[in-house]
Amino acid sequence: MMQSEGLKIILSGPSGSGKGTIVKELIKEDFILSISATTRQPRVGEQDEVHYFFKSVEEFEEMIEKGELLEYANFCNNYYGTPKSFIDKSVEEGKDVILEIEVQGAMQVKSVYPDAIFVFIMPPTFEELKSRLIGRGTETDDVIEKRLARAVDELKMYKEYDYIVINDRLEDAVEHIRNIVRAEKLKSYRY
Ligand code: 5GP
Repeated sequence: MMQSEGLKIILSGPSGSGKGTIVKELIKEDFILSISATTRQPRVGEQDEVHYFFKSVEEFEEMIEKGELLEYANFCNNYYGTPKSFIDKSVEEGKDVILEIEVQGAMQVKSVYPDAIFVFIMPPTFEELKSRLIGRGTETDDVIEKRLARAVDELKMYKEYDYIVINDRLEDAVEHIRNIVRAEKLKSYRY
């Protein structure tokens, strides 16, 4: 029997929604993560080719020109994009791949892969989002301001997604996403 294709799960949500932590849990077992390219500077502890492919603007623009990206977007003055080859290979091998990307990129993926599963991660409240973003201490005040402004815009886009998951308790949010994927697989006999 032919191996069935893996699913593409698109996770978006504003900075501070906790999607990064959710993804860390999901990739411990069932899913693999698409590693994006970005022109932003690495944060302390981030490694090239593990957390991102860190690129110069010139290198990134070359990837765009060569058609190597499935989607890309500008987020708070940096480019972010999803390399195509890894997604195609993983899905062909039957693996379920997570793309943790912002909303503009997610909408581009939707036009190419309407069958992907689109999940929006919501913080329980805006106050909570703010305190998570400030509390993690990885960004300067100026960047936090930009990300908060962007969060307001991103939150308006939740209706474009198939599922909304409120990240109140981490374990619950992770379980909800696992259940969504299980249900989607049953729906289309994609086991
Ligand atoms: P961060 O700088 O916090 O790692 O990521 C900033 C934003 O860019 C997050 O919303 C994250 O989901 C998004 N992002 C990360 N990789 C990609 C990508 O490949 N494409 C797009 N469109 N957004 C991405």
